[in-house]
Amino acid sequence: MADVLRPARRGLIMIMSSPSGAGKSTLTRTLSKSPSETNLDLSISVTTRAKRPSEIEGVHYHFIDRETFEQMRDRDELLEWAEVHGNGYGTPRKPVEASLKAGRDVLFDIDWQGTQQILERAREDVVSIFILPPSMAELRSRLVRRAEDAPDVIAKRLANAREEIARWTVYDYVIVNDDLDKAYDAVRSILAAERLKRSRAIGLGEFVEQLLTETLP
Ligand code: 5GP
Repeated sequence: MADVLRPARRGLIMIMSSPSGAGKSTLTRTLSKSPSETNLDLSISVTTRAKRPSEIEGVHYHFIDRETFEQMRDRDELLEWAEVHGNGYGTPRKPVEASLKAGRDVLFDIDWQGTQQILERAREDVVSIFILPPSMAELRSRLVRRAEDAPDVIAKRLANAREEIARWTVYDYVIVNDDLDKAYDAVRSILAAERLKRSRAIGLGEFVEQLLTETLP
């Protein structure tokens, strides 16, 4: 039998944003760890903020000082960067480019400012999702329950949450996270559908041509 052509696909950039405490980090981590989601790499950001007790260097972030952050930014080593809650955050460019080049999808947990920067550069490869909390009261109790930030930090994050929520129209999809399992299913459905988009396929025309010209015994 002759070699059968298989259509391939360009790697996609999946961005998830939300105010802190809306459950996005849990979602991105579950997604990137799930065995059925192979082909999905989580982009690990750099940040100048202090490490929380539960966080692991190189897993949740690369924790760097302000000077290193500014050097990376000035050398164009960051695909995007932003100041969030008074700290610098950014996406190292190299690992993302390597994943995409290998046809793998990359998952980003970044804010709306970074999302806009990436949209300006690679609109057609981006799938963006905004996660909303079911209410502001629930958002506050999640931040308090997490108990990893000082009270003044929690107050700052809550004040910023309104500003972030107001950016919801930047995103392709919006999910209200009142049930983590349902939100997770919604994200997986979006990913599955976006992966099948005709516009992302490589060699689909040739594949269809082959189907149409296949000689049957
Ligand atoms: P946290 O300090 O709670 O981990 O994150 C605070 C905010 O910074 C979150 O909205 C998170 O999505 C955002 N963030 C994390 N990494 C990056 C990044 O590399 N770039 C941008 N623009 N935002 C980021």
